[in-house]
Amino acid sequence: MRYIRCRFCGAVNYRRDKECRRCGFDITLDKNASLQKATAFLIAAVIFYIPANIYPILKSSTFSKVSGSTIIEGIFELMAHGDYPVAIIILIASVLVPVAKFIILAYLILSIKYGNCDSVEKKVRLYHLIEITGPWSLIDVFVVIILTALIQFKSITIIPGFGVSAFALMVFLTILSSYSLDERLLGDECGKQ
Ligand SMILES: [Zn+2]
Repeated sequence: MRYIRCRFCGAVNYRRDKECRRCGFDITLDKNASLQKATAFLIAAVIFYIPANIYPILKSSTFSKVSGSTIIEGIFELMAHGDYPVAIIILIASVLVPVAKFIILAYLILSIKYGNCDSVEKKVRLYHLIEITGPWSLIDVFVVIILTALIQFKSITIIPGFGVSAFALMVFLTILSSYSLDERLLGDECGKQ
């Protein structure tokens, strides 16, 4: 590989250069550092996702318990009240998206580490799926905005506590994991470790 793309501005640079000739961004490619950081952030994110699901997070007049509900309990209670659209959006935002991101990140980390021969195009697509509209615009931000808007609209309140902090940390750590995973490594020749 003679050339390398700048992750910040997309300019093509010589591999031997240390900084992007257009924007000065560090363009060095360190496979081990990238994999180690991405793995560490992913594991931390998965760990914080556990308390985010165990501690009560949502509170609403429609929920029976005074103490509030965990995310999953909240989804079931909303469904029991026939409130399917809100239940589905909360399910997507707080369960499906985070879990899908964990699985995709783990798959990409393992692909890079063990050099599997799946199509590069597929892997790059999956990577961009995590970021949805490309670098720097992350789906989690939209998810949080939608959730916040929805929650205000439906008079469901978020219980400030360890569960919410754990959820927020999980989102942040997932972003750090996908950012640490250098997508340029996805184009490495297959079978090469
Ligand atoms: Zn650049």
